Amino acid sequence: MRRHAVVTGGAGFVGSHLCERLLTRGTTVTCVDNFSTGDLGNVLHLDGEPGFACREADVSRGCDVPGPVDLVMHLASPASPRDYERLPIETLQTGSAGTNHALDLARQHGARFVLTSTSEVYGDPREHPQRETYWGNVNPVGPRSVYDEAKRYAEALTAAYRRAHGVNTGIARLFNTYGPRMRADDGRAIPTFIRQILTGEPVTVAGAGTQTRSLCYVDDTVDGLIALADSDLPGPVNLGNPHELAIRDLVREIQRLAGTSVPVRGVPAPVDDPRRRCPDIAVAQRELGWSPRVDLDEGLRRTMEWFAPSRLDAE
Ligand code: NAD
Ligand code: UDP
Repeated sequence: MRRHAVVTGGAGFVGSHLCERLLTRGTTVTCVDNFSTGDLGNVLHLDGEPGFACREADVSRGCDVPGPVDLVMHLASPASPRDYERLPIETLQTGSAGTNHALDLARQHGARFVLTSTSEVYGDPREHPQRETYWGNVNPVGPRSVYDEAKRYAEALTAAYRRAHGVNTGIARLFNTYGPRMRADDGRAIPTFIRQILTGEPVTVAGAGTQTRSLCYVDDTVDGLIALADSDLPGPVNLGNPHELAIRDLVREIQRLAGTSVPVRGVPAPVDDPRRRCPDIAVAQRELGWSPRVDLDEGLRRTMEWFAPSRLDAE
């Protein structure tokens, strides 16, 4: 087991759950975050715990953490379409220079390095479900390109550090992950729909709502990231829940669980919105012994409990 982990983006949604899980296993954790899309509040409860430290830093400028360091988990990056379209240059810089600095930190300490890449590297996929061998269909100049191409570059740089410098790297391609600590205003489907349904606002379904996503509960994603960190697998490896559903069916599911029905307000589909997305997880199952365990009902229930009306009022 690795003793000191640096988690970039540790104050974000996925990162804060990962910091918690690493600490529970007895790993010392240094969270590095610039709080651009995350929130210090996500890790405030860890402050004062032995073995936890949080440093405010922009990884695109540097990522220096005193050693020894055994593991670098590189999550820093805006992740929701609303965030990366608001922060286009920062997203490209974080994916490029930021990944470079995080890789240098791992190289300097001889640490294992794990990159959280994304299913967005497949773009609007022509192959379904998506296997790691598929090279993708990405518009290099569209509004999503700042994220997709930053992650593709980050993958290429990670693979090059393994080849050129012998760094022990691993690449995870996360598919849509949801759960407590998503921001109600981050624009992603699940927090938006839950907020709208719990407060009685019309639900903003993009386009016909027939586009699909495969939704993975955050605890499962974190299990997969830990399994990848514990291994020496280079990847890329898909981490996602292969239960695929149409966005309009996701809305129905949340309404059913909430026991309420609110009207749907059609909105235009975003430019280059992928039409289908579903992971083939055979590699993760075979190489890491990992499969998601939390089904959609249970995951949505836990997330909706967290987005209780009192929290939504406060935001
Ligand atoms: P998030 O926005 O909640 O977390 C990202 C964190 O990175 C935030 O705390 C933010 O402040 C920090 N950050 C951004 N730029 C930084 C910089 N330059 N320096 C330091 N910190 C910086 O997003 P998330 O959903 O938790 O995503 C975490 C990672 O997982 C991201 O790399 C994202 O691309 C990847 N991912 C997430 C999903 C998902 O569905 N949640 C899917 C695919 C990939
Ligand atoms: N979506 C929607 N209404 C919203 C937010 C999102 O219909 O208010 C759609 C969006 O167009 C996409 C899907 O839900 O087809 C998932 O969007 P999200 O932003 O959660 O993730 P991503 O597009 O990055 O997979």
